[in-house]
Amino acid sequence: MRVGVVGAGFAGLRAAMLLEASGAEVRLFEARNRVGGRCQTVDEGGGVQYEAGGEWIDADHLRVLRLLQSFGMEPAHKDALPRKLIHRGRETTALDIWSDALEDELRVEAAAKELCKNLHLPIWKNPTAKSLDDRTLADFIREHALTERGRWWVTSMFRSDEGDDLERIGLLGWLSGILKTSERDGDELSAFRFEGGSSRVLAAMQASLTTDVQFGRILRRVSQEGKGVTLIFEDGIERFDQVVLTLPPPALEQVVFEPALSARKRCAIEGYRMSRAVKISWEFDHAWWEDDGWGGSMQCDGPLQQTWSAGLGGAPVLSAYICGKEARDWMQLGDPVRAGVYELSVLFPAAARHFRRGWTHNWPDDPFAMGAFSHLAPGFVLEHLAHVAPPERRIHFSGEHTATWNGFIEGALESAERAHAEVMSA
Ligand SMILES: Cc1cc2nc3c(=O)[nH]c(=O)nc-3n(C[C@H](O)[C@H](O)[C@H](O)COP(=O)(O)OP(=O)(O)OC[C@H]3O[C@@H](n4cnc5c(N)ncnc54)[C@H](O)[C@@H]3O)c2cc1C
Repeated sequence: MRVGVVGAGFAGLRAAMLLEASGAEVRLFEARNRVGGRCQTVDEGGGVQYEAGGEWIDADHLRVLRLLQSFGMEPAHKDALPRKLIHRGRETTALDIWSDALEDELRVEAAAKELCKNLHLPIWKNPTAKSLDDRTLADFIREHALTERGRWWVTSMFRSDEGDDLERIGLLGWLSGILKTSERDGDELSAFRFEGGSSRVLAAMQASLTTDVQFGRILRRVSQEGKGVTLIFEDGIERFDQVVLTLPPPALEQVVFEPALSARKRCAIEGYRMSRAVKISWEFDHAWWEDDGWGGSMQCDGPLQQTWSAGLGGAPVLSAYICGKEARDWMQLGDPVRAGVYELSVLFPAAARHFRRGWTHNWPDDPFAMGAFSHLAPGFVLEHLAHVAPPERRIHFSGEHTATWNGFIEGALESAERAHAEVMSA
């Protein structure tokens, strides 16, 4: 069986590995000139290495951990030093959080658990939960977080998880994540990252394939006639028995299907929303944040939102992760790197003294991603979510957005396993 896989991110590489292991003749196509898609370890020279996209592994992301293990790699533990929290000029740490903020966090958590008692997975099979699906997470937090500081804290945490402003996140979709992680005891979130960078494991995945990744191949049309599928790229045509498409929804939306995909599939692809998240990374000539025993990890109520020590190659690098409308605002600035150093130096004057150079990674404007990762918008779950993953004849859909762990690298791997099983049983 000849199988064409389009997209060489985690989903496409994993699908190709599994299909080859099952004896399929696989060809893997990628629009960019590199593997990894929304994961990329950037090497700027001089020991500056950091993640431009996906970075953290939760402790219960077992597929990612098993994949690393299969290549003899160990995940790196996150920095043990506590995160700084800065709100209205006051500072504390996550270990010593203000009592009003903690009480609000616990109140929101308890209210979410209460709602989850009446829900089950898969989340779209809760037809009576329409009112939850139509509500926003922002609205839910306004109801249960009673103090201004608590609202900021809870909003800041969940905005970081969702990658966008909480007015854009549907309550029911968010609750599905709470249901999935109900067994957690508290330390699982962002417990690890990739030792030496995600590109190391991506390179190992690529090297494990017998097929060569075809770079610079931009898919434009997909035609299903008779017993096969034709993929029409900008620069040529390829025919297969089955295909796996791992493109993120906005990229998939640009592909023409003949015959057209079912109306419910088209609506699901068009209705899927991508988070607006960007990263700004700075190199410093000295890890000034370590001078007073701080690890560089911070959440604040200012426009930088969140930072951490991100260097993977020896040079001191700090990254900021900015989500939602503020991310768009940052990318409109003439020089977001320098503007970011200015904002940092307002909080930490040493930042300006030690700054060397910096870079931005603007995922919402990336032509092959058009966003950072998928989120479940209000009204999406009950109307569309069930229609995202199922195949349409010989076309199989993979990628993080088609998984129960949507938004995560874990989801990309999960989706590859499902697509592999579908193709092999077809
Ligand atoms: C800033 C940021 C932070 C993140 N943080 C985390 C994190 O900490 N932890 C975590 O688990 N996840 C995180 N993620 C999400 C994670 O990176 C993604 O869920 C995962 O990489 C998606 O993998 P994928 O294979 O599904 O999609 P992709 O990686 O997007 O792969 C799809 C591939 O398809 C290609 N493609 C697109 N259009 C075409 C076309 N027309 N023709 C051919 N090829 C095409 C793309 O170039 C891409 O290589 C983050 C993402 C970003 C951007």
